Amino acid sequence: MSTPGLDGYAEPWRKPEHDDLAEMARTFFLKEVVPHAARLEQQGHPDREHYRKAGELGLLGLSIPEEYGGGGGDFTHEAVMLHEQQLAGEGSLGLAVHSGIVTGYLNAYGTEEQKRRWLPKLCSGELIGAIAMTEPDGGSDVQAIRTRAVRTGEDFLVTGSKTFITNGYLADLLVLAVKTDQSAKAHGISLLVCELDEDAPGFRRGRNLEKIGLHANDTAELFFDEFRVPAANLLGGVEAENTGFYQLMQQLPQERLVIGVGAVAAMQRAVELATAYAKERTAFGKPLVGHQNTRMVLAECATRTRASRVFLDDCIVRHHRGELDVATAAMAKLYLTEGQCEVVDRCLQIFGGYGYTTEYPIARMYADARVQKIYGGTNEIMKELIARVL
Ligand SMILES: Cc1cc2nc3c(=O)[nH]c(=O)nc-3n(C[C@H](O)[C@H](O)[C@H](O)COP(=O)(O)OP(=O)(O)OC[C@H]3O[C@@H](n4cnc5c(N)ncnc54)[C@H](O)[C@@H]3O)c2cc1C
Repeated sequence: MSTPGLDGYAEPWRKPEHDDLAEMARTFFLKEVVPHAARLEQQGHPDREHYRKAGELGLLGLSIPEEYGGGGGDFTHEAVMLHEQQLAGEGSLGLAVHSGIVTGYLNAYGTEEQKRRWLPKLCSGELIGAIAMTEPDGGSDVQAIRTRAVRTGEDFLVTGSKTFITNGYLADLLVLAVKTDQSAKAHGISLLVCELDEDAPGFRRGRNLEKIGLHANDTAELFFDEFRVPAANLLGGVEAENTGFYQLMQQLPQERLVIGVGAVAAMQRAVELATAYAKERTAFGKPLVGHQNTRMVLAECATRTRASRVFLDDCIVRHHRGELDVATAAMAKLYLTEGQCEVVDRCLQIFGGYGYTTEYPIARMYADARVQKIYGGTNEIMKELIARVL
């Protein structure tokens, strides 16, 4: 199915290799994972086996150098894979975080030893990655985090709690934001790479949270009580202590772009589904698409989708050149996720009552879309970041 309004549009960065990757990713998601969607939603988390299968196919860590087990590509390859996952309607695997974010942190800041130790296993799907910044007392003000890591000899003892952690129920490897200097704000934050083991003293997984959408992907609470982490697991090595906030700020534009990729793919899918439905469903003796309002709504949604696609691609090109600034990434996250929620809502309306039943993918897309305006920094925070440079 091609997207109405995007026929003939080609991403400026796209090469034939991206088409091959898209084909492989599409086949994997549609044939291997989507058939299990109902069961995965019921269990509330993905199958580990699907991570391993994705790893075998080379779909994990596409932008990670081959020497660390990755695909040797760049962000455009991650974007193609994530786009296909969304277009296929696959929502269980937390690849946006696992591949789009966690492997990126390790690759950007990890010491040689850290990269060799963890990246190959993340790329093979043997380890599932997560990142934890948000705490029960607040997520927007990252500088105010309270989870603390106190140095004792060769280790840190971590005490505190995190919540809303994507992949948190299954994660084996966690990039954890902690305070290593209690007296400082931003300059007291470090990132600790934690190997999560259910039997480790001082570590406990909380609930896999029940959400209004994204039912097949796990989002969990994590608790630490003098949990022992070797000081050598400081991301970037011991000399990187207290530079975590800087590391986070450097990586957040990519995280926001990852969210934007999902938003545009969802818009495309919504327009495709609604257009197809409007052509086959009749009301008052003619197809829905024969009614002027339906045509106007679809035209507006297709236009919004295309404009969003162009903006996203501009950001991808900038990111590829290392020039994606914080404000532009925030604009993308804001505009694309607001667009996703609006387009999906308007497309759902075309389905009438069927749009409200979970048998129809558009209903799930509606529920899944809402969080896009919340995580990765809320859209209110995005406006703050944009306003700062005006
Ligand atoms: C499904 C899901 C997955 C998530 N995955 C992760 C993850 O993997 N890792 C992780 O660390 N976090 C994750 N989060 C957490 C997410 O990033 C936070 O929920 C988000 O940053 C907001 O933090 P909060 O919920 O504490 O809201 P708060 O910070 O309490 O904000 C509440 C409201 O106040 C507004 N607000 C706050 N400050 C300001 C301000 N200065 N000006 C104007 N308005 C303001 C916010 O925009 C929001 O509307 C996830 C959340 C969800 C729901």
